[in-house]
Amino acid sequence: MDFSLSPEQLELQERATIAGLEFRDEAAKWDREDRVDYRRVLARMVELGFCGLTMPKEFGGQDGDALSYLIATAAIFRSSRSWIPNEPLFSTSGPGPALLMLGSDTLRQKYLPDIVQGAKSCAIALTEPNHGSDLTYLESTAEPHGGEWVVNGDKAFITGVLENELYATFVRFSGIPGAAGVGVVILERDMPGFTMDRGPEFVGDRGLPHGTMQMRNVVIPEENVIRGPGHFAEVMRSFNMERLHNTSASLGFAEAAYDEAAAYTSQRHAFGRPVIEFQATYHSLADMWVTIQAQRLLAYQAAASAVDGHFPQLLDVSAAKLFGNLAVVDITLKSIELHGGNGVTMDYPVQRIHRDVVSNIVAGGSPSILRNGIASQLFPDQRFRQTAPRANMG
Ligand SMILES: Cc1cc2nc3c(=O)[nH]c(=O)nc-3n(C[C@H](O)[C@H](O)[C@H](O)COP(=O)(O)OP(=O)(O)OC[C@H]3O[C@@H](n4cnc5c(N)ncnc54)[C@H](O)[C@@H]3O)c2cc1C
Repeated sequence: MDFSLSPEQLELQERATIAGLEFRDEAAKWDREDRVDYRRVLARMVELGFCGLTMPKEFGGQDGDALSYLIATAAIFRSSRSWIPNEPLFSTSGPGPALLMLGSDTLRQKYLPDIVQGAKSCAIALTEPNHGSDLTYLESTAEPHGGEWVVNGDKAFITGVLENELYATFVRFSGIPGAAGVGVVILERDMPGFTMDRGPEFVGDRGLPHGTMQMRNVVIPEENVIRGPGHFAEVMRSFNMERLHNTSASLGFAEAAYDEAAAYTSQRHAFGRPVIEFQATYHSLADMWVTIQAQRLLAYQAAASAVDGHFPQLLDVSAAKLFGNLAVVDITLKSIELHGGNGVTMDYPVQRIHRDVVSNIVAGGSPSILRNGIASQLFPDQRFRQTAPRANMG
C-alpha cells in the first residue's frame, strides 16, 4: 500500500497552498466585519484554476476525484487560515454539483456549465427551523400543479444565502411521510415567492451568512427536480461531499493551529529559553502532529472511498468527520494555551481558527448523528430506531 502523493497531487497541493496564502491577511477583517467581497474571492479562485475540480470536462470541470478535492481544500484551509477561500471550490465541485450529477441530462446541461465555471454558485438547503438532524421529518413541500411543482417552506442556517444564485433544496414530495417522501429540487434566487435573509450572527465561520430561506408558492418546472421521492439514500450519498469538505476543514485547520503553535513557541521566551524547549511544549506538539496524521489517513480513506469521484461512502466519511471534528477542537485549544494570553487576543489567528472549528462540529451532521450512522453500518441486523414510539412521521 502506497500512502505517498503522486507528482500531480503534490503540485496541486503546492498551488493550493500558494493560493490560500493570498487571502491570509484578509481573514481577520472578514471575521471582524462579518462581511466579504465574495465575488472577488470567487473570481480569483476561478482565475487560479480551482473551480470544478471534480466535475467532468464536458461541463468545464477538471475531471479530478474527491481525493484531489480534499488535498486542495485542506491546503487552502491551512495556508489561508480561513474557510472563505474554499467556498468557490465547495460551490463548483462540492455537494451541490455532486447532487446535480444525479439529475437528468436536461438539468445538467441547464446548470452545470455555469456552476462548474463559477458563473453561478450553488448552495445546499436541507435544514429547517424545526428540523436539522431529523431530516426525515422535513416540512418543506413540493406539490404538483399543471405539469410544474409548487414549493413551500422555510430553511435555516443555509451557508451563502444571498450570495448564491442556485439552491439545491430538500423538500417533501406530495405529502409522502418519512424518508421516502424526501427529494431535491433546484431553486433560482430570483424565482417569484423565494426570499432570503442573513439570519442570526455566528461566533465562527463568519463573513458569509448562514441565513434563512422562505419559499412561498415558488413554481418550478418539472425539469428542476433533481431527484423525486424514493431516493433518500442516493441523495444523502451525494451530500457526503459536504461531510468530506467539513473533514477537510478539520484537517487543514488542525495543521494551521499546529503551525501557529510551533512558530509562536519557537520565538517566545520564558525563563530565559524558547518555550518550545520545555518538554511539556514539545510533547504537546508531538501529540498534535500524531493526531493530525491519524486525521489525514481517515480523511484520505474517506476521499478514496468515493464512487465516481463524487460520492464518498457513508461509513468512511462519517468516521473521518467524527474523528476530525473532535480532534481539531482539542488541537486548537492546546494551540491557544501554548500562545499564553496572546492566544485569546484578536491579534493572533488561533482564536478565530478555534471559533471556526467549533462552528463546524454540527454542520453536515452532529457527532451523535454520525455515530448513529456508523453504528447502523457496523450492526446492519440491528434496527436503531430514532423515532419516538407514537411520533407522526408526516
Ligand atoms: C456553520 C454552519 C453551517 C451550516 N450550513 C448549512 C447549509 O449550508 N445547509 C443546511 O441545510 N444546513 C446547514 N447547517 C445546519 C446544520 O446542518 C444543522 O445545524 C445540523 O444538521 C444540526 O441540526 P440542528 O441545528 O437542527 O440541531 P438538532 O437536530 O436540533 O440537534 C440538537 C442536538 O440533539 C442531538 N440529536 C438530535 N437527534 C439525535 C439522535 N437521534 N440521537 C442522538 N442525538 C441527537 C444532536 O446531536 C444535537 O447535539 C449549518 C450549520 C452550521 C453550524
